[in-house]
Amino acid sequence: MSEQGCIFCKIAAGEIPAERVYEDDVCIAFNDITPQAPTHLLLIPREHFDSLDKAEAGHKATLGHMMLTAANIARDKGFADDGYRIVINTNSDGGQTVFHLHVHLLAGRPFVFPPG
Ligand code: 5GP
Ligand code: ZN
Repeated sequence: MSEQGCIFCKIAAGEIPAERVYEDDVCIAFNDITPQAPTHLLLIPREHFDSLDKAEAGHKATLGHMMLTAANIARDKGFADDGYRIVINTNSDGGQTVFHLHVHLLAGRPFVFPPG
């Protein structure tokens, strides 16, 4: 399940420390090491897959669970009403730098659209 050398697999396994804010059987949420907003969380599936581009039908439940988990975290942490931004950078032009699928959850300031 875990991919050799993958930094997010290592975080999921507890081999690299991270400030976890939520976890369950499917996914883990932790603070981004270089926050781009007052709140900047990353949600990762425990199961490794490289990117949304590599998602398959078998990942449907995991992806749906992660979206609902992001919304629950936003409500629990009290920033849902003000709003937030969900981002899944995918492949090179998408700005993806870590190739273990992850959802950015950003909040605490207004965001412009389209992003840069
Ligand atoms: P991407 O550019 O692939 O969409 O996002 C990768 C994110 O992972 C970046 O926002 C980066 O700051 C974050 N990141 C990279 N390495 C680590 C790490 O070791 N720990 C944590 N908490 N975040 C990381
Ligand atoms: Zn991984």
